[in-house]
Amino acid sequence: MKEEIQKFFKGDVTDEKETLLKYSHDASLFEVIPKLVVSPKDSEDIKNLIKFVNANDQINKISITARSAGTDMSGGPLNESIILDFTHYMNKLIFFDAPNFNITVQPGMYYRDFEKIVAEKKLMLPSFPASKDLCAIGGIVSNNSGGEKSLVYGKTEKYVESLKIVLADGNEYIVKPLTQKELAEKIELNTFEGDLYKKLYQLIMENRQIIEEAKPNVSKNSAGYYIWNVIETDGKFNLCKLIVGSQGTFGMVTGVTFRLVPIKKYSRLLVVFLNDMKILPDLVSTVMKFTPESVESYDDKTLKLAEQFLPDFLKNKNFKQKIKFLWSFWPDLFMFLRSGFPKLVLMIEFTDDNEMEINKKLKNLKTEMDRLHLPNRAARIGADENKYWEIRRDSFNLLRQHVKGKRTAPFIDDVIVRPEFLSEFLPKLNDILKDYPELEYTIAGHAASGNFHIIPLVDMHNPKIPQVILEVSEKVYDLVAKYHGSNTAEHNDGIIRTPYLYKMYNADILEIFKKVKNIFDPKGIFNPGKKIGGDKKYIREHITH
Ligand SMILES: Cc1cc2nc3c(=O)[nH]c(=O)nc-3n(C[C@H](O)[C@H](O)[C@H](O)COP(=O)(O)OP(=O)(O)OC[C@H]3O[C@@H](n4cnc5c(N)ncnc54)[C@H](O)[C@@H]3O)c2cc1C
Repeated sequence: MKEEIQKFFKGDVTDEKETLLKYSHDASLFEVIPKLVVSPKDSEDIKNLIKFVNANDQINKISITARSAGTDMSGGPLNESIILDFTHYMNKLIFFDAPNFNITVQPGMYYRDFEKIVAEKKLMLPSFPASKDLCAIGGIVSNNSGGEKSLVYGKTEKYVESLKIVLADGNEYIVKPLTQKELAEKIELNTFEGDLYKKLYQLIMENRQIIEEAKPNVSKNSAGYYIWNVIETDGKFNLCKLIVGSQGTFGMVTGVTFRLVPIKKYSRLLVVFLNDMKILPDLVSTVMKFTPESVESYDDKTLKLAEQFLPDFLKNKNFKQKIKFLWSFWPDLFMFLRSGFPKLVLMIEFTDDNEMEINKKLKNLKTEMDRLHLPNRAARIGADENKYWEIRRDSFNLLRQHVKGKRTAPFIDDVIVRPEFLSEFLPKLNDILKDYPELEYTIAGHAASGNFHIIPLVDMHNPKIPQVILEVSEKVYDLVAKYHGSNTAEHNDGIIRTPYLYKMYNADILEIFKKVKNIFDPKGIFNPGKKIGGDKKYIREHITH
């Protein structure tokens, strides 16, 4: 296969063992070894590759899985056939119209490079994930990522204005919101694209009630196909809504145009230290009355890890920054001595263009926390507040890299229920987990939206682990379903959660998802086993040791 592809492919094609092994992992607990890794130079390469796969799929069962930075926690960019890596060549800025808050980039651009470009004009893509220093645009879009600012700004789907995508017929298309007239023109086309619009429109119109009733009752959801908002409130038909979050199961995204938002001039952080997790739900509803932009949290185990891995936090800092960083821990140590080591650290951030206004908000919340006798402090601007953000964002990554003999095993890493259910949901979740001493876990997350990242650390050589993972998943997703939540708010289904979609969705909507996949990808050449068709046996067989 390699030699045949090399005949028409301008980019790199390799089947070297070392490369295959590198691409057999993402940030999930899986190992899936591909046959080939390719890095396209441009869309032409991708179009030709898809045509080649179409011509050969009967004989070899070839499929293609897109990969950007490979930080997915669900196994999304893993496949036994061809992996197509966007980061080598397709990583360029195409167009930046800062006055109109618009930017077009290729999917292989790392978010850290993207952030530099837009931040210079005081703009941001507010749905950036905690992995912002590691991940790339293609993954952010294809997972419908969200992060610390999603409480106010929502997830990536809100900011994608248009997409370029190579579909199953091997042609590249622009996808954007269409008026009824534009949609009618598309439907008239006697082509793959025309057929796609016609069938999808029909499917959605014929099943509007089933679709509406199946919508999870939470503020963030990456499970299944995001079919709810394809017909927008202004009547436009917007397939971007469906493609964003589809984990590369519809085609290869080759370009993305985002709407950006201005960065507010001022931000202030109040940190509250909780010794009792039980008060969290009530506390969150109190805090929300003060209209913060972010309410993030991490637990005592995360805090201990930060202490243990202090040298890693210092690594990329110069001498002065190191001193400032270390010095910034004094007030916390003092507070811990006075009030005890906290069980949970709650970070509440306000942003505003008016300095007086932001100081007022901070002061009012601080007064309320003092009234409730909750230890708290307003972080000083700079190193002091940055350290909380660094711990919140980097803890999972440090955990992945460091703990000898054990590894991170994300599998119930992204559950969400409505915040008002947290006081019932969290103790029940805890009851499930306490029966499994094999799972030592950390919790961090987006407390105000009810979305928690529970990351167990396990000894993968323990033969009981695959069974434990399957058993706990079963119980936790049953619990999530009871509260009409979602198995995944941000991290998506991938290999690890696709087999549990049936716990969230009824048979009718699962059938609609299948039909949607079939319309986009009739031969099943894009990222098999994700969103549609995964099974628990595959999970068991591909857990890495
Ligand atoms: C430390 C850490 C923290 C994290 N925090 C968050 C968080 O706060 N919020 C969050 O949402 N996620 C988080 N994640 C998960 C992950 O980092 C994000 O989902 C990220 O956006 C994935 O980007 P990526 O470039 O690494 O994508 P990849 O892992 O390369 O791919 C992700 C999925 O997108 C598909 N894909 C990639 N590029 C394309 C393309 N061009 N066309 C079609 N499909 C494509 C892949 O097939 C795969 O299914 C975290 C991960 C880590 C390791």
